[in-house]
Amino acid sequence: MTKPAYKRVLLKLSGEALMGDDAYGINRATIDRMVADVAEIAKLGVELAIVIGGGNIFRGVAPGAQGMDRATADYMGMLATVMNSLALADAMRQAGMTARVMSAISIEQVVEPYVRPKALQYLEEGKIVIFAAGTGNPFFTTDTAAALRGSEIGAEIVLKATKVDGVYSADPHKDPAATRYSSISFDEAITKRLQVMDATAFALCRDQKLPIKVFSITKPGALKRVIMGEDEGTLVHV
Ligand code: UDP
Repeated sequence: MTKPAYKRVLLKLSGEALMGDDAYGINRATIDRMVADVAEIAKLGVELAIVIGGGNIFRGVAPGAQGMDRATADYMGMLATVMNSLALADAMRQAGMTARVMSAISIEQVVEPYVRPKALQYLEEGKIVIFAAGTGNPFFTTDTAAALRGSEIGAEIVLKATKVDGVYSADPHKDPAATRYSSISFDEAITKRLQVMDATAFALCRDQKLPIKVFSITKPGALKRVIMGEDEGTLVHV
């Protein structure tokens, strides 16, 4: 059997990826399918850390948050990622995997705090680590948390799971002539003004020479193909 292309990866899942076709919240069948994908790569011996967004829950409360102070709304968004992390860890437990949630905001009765050496220890023990509460700071995103934690744990790559199967030359929903890049450098992505991750996350990955793979989480088998180093999605390289 061929070996995985990576030993340690950071997987960024958007909150929306948990919604399935629902308007907001967590869709049971969707989370179970995602966990099955993760189980497949965990079996290969790849050390896996996950950062999950909160968009799916935040959407449900957004109308009530209108006009709210930005930092307060952002703290609500971070708490939404804690809820998603707990749901994901529980679904993993039910599927027979061991996951640990570590939060950037201290809520010790609910989840343990993020402590880097502890996270590294869990990864070495083969446990899946889920980083909750983003970076712990308002005005940031979970993409930036993925770039930050990915750098901290020495991940070889950030896998950005989206609904689109890579980075395109134009919006594939609007332009039928749009083509997918199989790989592109950070500099080319900037020159061509391609949206890969938010600017802070992108700059951090570029500085740290941490490649990014953009791929579709809704495409069956895509995560495994990415892990095996196959031509799936778009690789953003130095
Ligand atoms: N957030 C934040 N700081 C962080 C990460 C997230 O303030 O370090 C807040 C922010 O309000 C954001 C929300 O949490 O809109 C949910 O995160 P994100 O939008 O990245 O989730 P996704 O779109 O991936 O579901």
